[in-house]
Order: sequence, then structure tokens, then C-alpha cells
Amino acid sequence: MNKSLITYSIISFIIIFFFGFNFLFSLLGNILIILFLTPILLVVIAFLTINSFKSKFKVCTNCGTTMISDNESCLYCGSNFSEIDNKKYSEDASSETIEIEAEEIN
Ligand SMILES: [Zn+2]
Repeated sequence: MNKSLITYSIISFIIIFFFGFNFLFSLLGNILIILFLTPILLVVIAFLTINSFKSKFKVCTNCGTTMISDNESCLYCGSNFSEIDNKKYSEDASSETIEIEAEEIN
């Protein structure tokens, strides 16, 4: 324990002797900056990962199960997500409303 303390003091003395106090202060400043920046960086990384998970998070429109996967089809019922999306959004809204009105009349 004392041996390590002596070696650390010698190393710090050598650093001060060769590089001066400015180097030591700048080093400490850099360490402080890193300590402050790493939590911010971690928060940013967490935010990005959550966003990517949200994009992967899918709800099957056929059976209603939620899953996290890159698959294009449902793991439970096997219905295709892209097919469902195309059915939902490829057609115009005006044509959709006309269809619904026709069904109501019948
Ligand atoms: Zn399904």
C-alpha cells in the first residue's frame, strides 16, 4: 500500500517536473470533461437505442400480438406486415371513404 503511494507520488512529481502544473490541470480538466460528457453520451445512446427499438416494435394488425423483430411477417399468425401496410396506405383516402359509403347503402 505504501509502496504504491510512493510510486504514484514519484510519477506525479516526474509529470510535474517535466510538463509543469499546466499539464496536470489540463489533464484534470479533461478528466472532468470526460466525466461530465460520458453521462450525456450515454443518455444520447440510450435515446437512440430506444428509438430503434420503437421502430422494431410491431403490432400485428391481424391477430394483435406485439413483438420486437425485423421479420416482415407475424411470428404467431404468419400474416405479412408489408402486405397489410400496402392494403392500408397504398389506396387513396377518397376511394376508401367511397367504399365505406357504398357498404352502408347496401
Ligand atoms: Zn399476427
